[in-house]
Amino acid sequence: MPERRFFADVGRYFDRAAAFVNYPPGLLAQVRHCNSIYRFDFPVRRRDGNIEVVRAWRAEHSHHKLPVKGGIRYSPLVDEDEVMALAALMTYKCAIVDVPYGGAKGAVCIDTRQHAEEEIERVTRRYAYELISKNFMGPAVDVPAPDLGTGAREMAWIADTYQAVRGDQIDALGCVTGKPLSQGGIAGRGEATGRGLFYVLREVCTDTEEMARRGLSTGLDGKRIAVQGLGKVGYWVAQLCYEAGARIVAIADISGTVTDPRGIAPDALREHVAATGGVAGFPGGAVHDSPAAALEADCDVLIPAAVESQLRADNASRVQARIVLEGANGPTTPEADAIFQAAGVLVIPDVYANAGGVIVSYFEWLKNLSHVRFGRLERRYQERADNRLLDVIESATGTTLSSDDRGRIVTPISELTVVNSGLEETMISAYHRIRETMRTVNGVDDLRTAAFHLAIDRVAEAYVQRGVFP
Ligand code: GLU
Repeated sequence: MPERRFFADVGRYFDRAAAFVNYPPGLLAQVRHCNSIYRFDFPVRRRDGNIEVVRAWRAEHSHHKLPVKGGIRYSPLVDEDEVMALAALMTYKCAIVDVPYGGAKGAVCIDTRQHAEEEIERVTRRYAYELISKNFMGPAVDVPAPDLGTGAREMAWIADTYQAVRGDQIDALGCVTGKPLSQGGIAGRGEATGRGLFYVLREVCTDTEEMARRGLSTGLDGKRIAVQGLGKVGYWVAQLCYEAGARIVAIADISGTVTDPRGIAPDALREHVAATGGVAGFPGGAVHDSPAAALEADCDVLIPAAVESQLRADNASRVQARIVLEGANGPTTPEADAIFQAAGVLVIPDVYANAGGVIVSYFEWLKNLSHVRFGRLERRYQERADNRLLDVIESATGTTLSSDDRGRIVTPISELTVVNSGLEETMISAYHRIRETMRTVNGVDDLRTAAFHLAIDRVAEAYVQRGVFP
């Protein structure tokens, strides 16, 4: 695979959209640049007593709103260019879905498969300590979250380290999101990115005009979907689409791809992978060695939900899907994107489509700052109000509802229902803003350019409002 200049590629998408806005070049340059990057090396004691020096970064791309926000990636392949590119995507992503943050990203260059849990804990705590001491972390400054290779466990260590250093701050728990529920996390954060992708696809499939242009019928029911990735993102989007009636015809994890035109049950495949360590031997479908086989599967919708640079000049023309829904960050290179545009493939860009994670992170941060769980104040009030209304209807009509019917109408609010409805609302309304931009800005005819257009507009406006630019 040729070496990719990821930050420059994000810049190319930016420039394509910037051609349609009307801001001074200096302001556009300020929006495009990566404001600050902190790179550091630190020693970690291995279990065998040896010392390993680990390289790490935190990139803060834009401070037009504070705090800045973005995940932390643990990967042996990560480099500075990738961290900057991912931080830039966070700036635009938050702007597109109207989440009031600047963009950031962190990374630690380690292969977690080669490290024991206690070593990963030492790395995580030391990384967090470095960020805290250099003011690269804090609930009002910079709020990390999970990304590739990290999850709730790492976020709990980070929150604990922050509290050990700054425990007297009343909002200390808001220093990081994606925490376990028992430690200030929020219901639904784990599946949020996958669920957000599901809402997006369901909404796009109701768009008669877009579906007709691709020769597809409306609705998710019966759509043939291929998913690359069976992690947090890929599994959840596949499972939710499957439950909604779509047919999952291919799924890949790191060990290979399973294809089955009759459909695969994602939960069954996940259980098989957990029990055996890979997709080999999964009953029913055909198994291919390469995770890339999913990309070229015969399907209507392709969801790359693994890592970046999967769809490139060398394979994009073999993609059979009519819709590409980007679950990963940066799965499509600009060269592949051009091939998709020319072939009339509808690309739903990462910078919008996978925003579910940061949207629910935003809800978690709000919960941490308000020190109260969603639904706690109104739950019983709402339940009584619903019951009173039904009592009045019953006496006015002389009928009595069965307790089953009453139970269907009076559904007590839970944190999860509030979070999911907030996520659904945010994803769907952002889609319509992007569509509107596409319709109204002359010359913009793809969702990625429209999404970047919206992002540039919002970030630039924030600078203007702050009086930074006249
Ligand atoms: N790492 C996720 C992303 O790329 C989530 C970031 C967050 O929740 O702050 O969007």
